[in-house]
Amino acid sequence: MSDPVSRVQDPAFRKKLEEIREMMGSWLPSEELKEKVQGFRTQKGIYKPEGSEYALWIRHTLKGIYQDQANPPLPDGSWTYRYSPESKEGTMDLSLSTNRALFRSKEERIPVGVFIERALPGRKTTYEVMGLAYVEDFDGTHFILRGLPIDFQDDPMKDPVKAAFQPFEKEPLPMSLTLRDLRDKGFRTAVSRAYGGKCSLCELGYTFRGQPIGVEAAHIIPVSDRGTSKDVRNGILLCKNHHDLFDRFLWAFDEDYRVIVSEDRVFRKSAENNHILKAEGSKLSNLPSVDYDLPGSAAVKYRLDKFYSSGN
Ligand SMILES: [Zn+2]
Repeated sequence: MSDPVSRVQDPAFRKKLEEIREMMGSWLPSEELKEKVQGFRTQKGIYKPEGSEYALWIRHTLKGIYQDQANPPLPDGSWTYRYSPESKEGTMDLSLSTNRALFRSKEERIPVGVFIERALPGRKTTYEVMGLAYVEDFDGTHFILRGLPIDFQDDPMKDPVKAAFQPFEKEPLPMSLTLRDLRDKGFRTAVSRAYGGKCSLCELGYTFRGQPIGVEAAHIIPVSDRGTSKDVRNGILLCKNHHDLFDRFLWAFDEDYRVIVSEDRVFRKSAENNHILKAEGSKLSNLPSVDYDLPGSAAVKYRLDKFYSSGN
């Protein structure tokens, strides 16, 4: 496999897809998107640039109905979304050039950008940039979109809920810095979505204009031990404090997600008024809403071994 964007022949179209991919995870006001994204000023549902065979993006508007789909990611960081084709005078018409462009994107596995309007009280129209997605299927009434996985050079997992968890990365693949950055961003975005933007241990997490603040995606098996960055099950969302303590092996959690704190007496004394001791022995209070995003047991075991062997 290779980067699906590189399959696009037209360099200008390729660049536009790359720009949308770089915005993945952002929540942006419509006004800003009109400046940054071709067609956003004039087009609503599906946008197919003049002369292009493929659709560049689709956008979903709220249309007055409060419809805030959380879209928990699948373990590989991908997500699914059902999208209605364009209709003519209220009737679905698959022969419209926009719908045909989406079918073309499906046949040639050319990804499309996905923008979803989100309700932010008191704010102007805002869209979450979901990122790029494959048009996987058409079920007779809707296009089925599937977000690119964290490692977008891979195909999305076929049956991600049942797929065996691969906690370690293989030998590092040659990868440009830009692609590596995008992959890291994909991991952060997916883990943040899985935990609803709040620390797993203390539930701290701020949101400003749709973006989580003060939280970080931690690797359960560290990257330095080749812990994978392409599976949500090797991740956990933590506030900066609890991430720092986690990285220093001052706490860990067991396979029942119960918090274990270091026995180091000086550390415990220093933490007397801190949340960490109150959480000791309790289950992590914020876990993913779907079981398939929970920390993988192979990662949890590995982490616990490291925790105990680091003198705790
Ligand atoms: Zn915390």
